[in-house]
Amino acid sequence: MPGERPRAPRGTFDVLPPESERRERLRALCAEVLAGAGYRYVETPVIEHTELFVRGVGEATDIVRKEMFTFADKGGRSLTLRPENTAGICRAYVEHGMHKWPQPVRLWYWGPFFRHEAPQAGRYRQFTQVGAEALGSDDPALDAELILLLREILERAGARHLRLRLASLGSPATRAVYAEELRQYLKQREQLLAPEVRERIDKNPLRAFDSDHPSTRAVMAQAPRLLDRLDADDREHFACVRALLDAVGVEYEVDPTLVRGLDYYTRTVFEFESQALGAQRGVGGGGRYDRLIEELGGPPTAACGWAAGVERILLAAGDQPASESHVDVLVATVDAARAARALTLARELRSLGLRVELGDSRRALRRQLRHADRLGARAAVIVGDDLQLKRLADGSQVAIGGAAEVVEILRTQDPSQVGQEAS
Ligand code: ATP
Ligand code: MG
Repeated sequence: MPGERPRAPRGTFDVLPPESERRERLRALCAEVLAGAGYRYVETPVIEHTELFVRGVGEATDIVRKEMFTFADKGGRSLTLRPENTAGICRAYVEHGMHKWPQPVRLWYWGPFFRHEAPQAGRYRQFTQVGAEALGSDDPALDAELILLLREILERAGARHLRLRLASLGSPATRAVYAEELRQYLKQREQLLAPEVRERIDKNPLRAFDSDHPSTRAVMAQAPRLLDRLDADDREHFACVRALLDAVGVEYEVDPTLVRGLDYYTRTVFEFESQALGAQRGVGGGGRYDRLIEELGGPPTAACGWAAGVERILLAAGDQPASESHVDVLVATVDAARAARALTLARELRSLGLRVELGDSRRALRRQLRHADRLGARAAVIVGDDLQLKRLADGSQVAIGGAAEVVEILRTQDPSQVGQEAS
């Protein structure tokens, strides 16, 4: 690229203010909702051994087959930028013996994920997920709790036109028998199927329900349904989840064709969509993965969780009214000799809960005040022989004694806008 201006790699983006501040607010909302339900924040590495995703996400999935950013480290070991987090969290659960903690272990996360996809609106190569996992219990109330928490986040974030689809995939044994039944059904209609569906009849016939291909869809509409084949325990579990959601007034549609993209799901699966989005309608989803921890070498451990796309939540929430200015007060000086006094005063004002920016004391006062205007600050404090408070709305100016008086005046002027948590 010599001579060319550097650009962010394809499918990645910068998050600049004020958008970055919108994201920060969403993160705070997630923290509030999830911590409020006993979920504790967790971080795992952005790189994992490739093997983890092959075992934990599943060899036949789109993610593992074509979406992973994989590279060799200097010792020749294959590493992958994490495409999702459930495998990483289960790895951590096993590695740190979390089965000895009080069960279920409730965790939440927020961070960057990577998938090598064709970039378009709502689909990126680096994106952000927020997620929650509850490990160590098969209680159907956990499934319902997790769905409720995601719904609360989506609603409070302002995501519009939400729809919740729900299904059960049953247990591994039922699924294996059903998969064989479906395989036979598909093989008898092979010539009607999309090539990529045909290719996967043996490995992962259930994914045929995900296809957009018209004649595949027609075949699938008549296909046998897993929901009709669940064994008594799984049917009972699903009925419990549904009864709980009904009891708390959560609306959902049972969708027998819902097949999540990850291989490890058992029993409950769900997905929230927003009709406000185009083709990339899924804002978040998840389900139970009662087999995964054992698959990764841990004790048999039932678990349930979800992940939601932060960019898609924000898209589904649409444009929101511009937020207020990010600064309350600019501290300006009549000359550079007052820089130390200005620095001290700025600290005093901040300790009283105001957001305070320091003017450039080497610049003319007039230019510092213009800068305050452009920032949208409410007032400027001018440090000269005395202290003056200038209200930027009407240009009025009064002499003041010190920092406390600034807070006092701004509060009487418009109480709602002063300080976050002035103590
Ligand atoms: P899709 O069907 O849109 O590819 P998915 O089934 O692959 O989604 P999951 O693996 O369930 O998605 O990930 C959970 C959420 O993460 C999705 O609902 C979506 O909001 C978000 N997400 C997934 N892939 C991307 C991406 N490439 N860019 C932005 N967000 C994404
Ligand atoms: Mg995908």
